[in-house]
Amino acid sequence: VIQIDEPPDTAACATCGPLVWLWSRRREAWVAFIAAPDGGPHAIRPHPCRHAQDYPTWREVREPDPPSAEYVEARKAIGHKIEKLNEESE
Ligand SMILES: [Zn+2]
Repeated sequence: VIQIDEPPDTAACATCGPLVWLWSRRREAWVAFIAAPDGGPHAIRPHPCRHAQDYPTWREVREPDPPSAEYVEARKAIGHKIEKLNEESE
């Protein structure tokens, strides 16, 4: 038997409107979604506001404290890519 808690009782976000809570089996957490108006009547997208999100979304990457070597390397790599993009667009 899988025990799943009740979804958070946050029904709406002041900025985004009604929230749809869907259970993520992989994360074992409720994830908030909002309607995606440009994607058709049934399209949804993850709710972007943190204040109404009971659990961090998969898009949130927390900085370890202190930063791990992997994190520092990843941030450097991303930084180089952004610099390169900026150079190419100039
Ligand atoms: Zn919102």
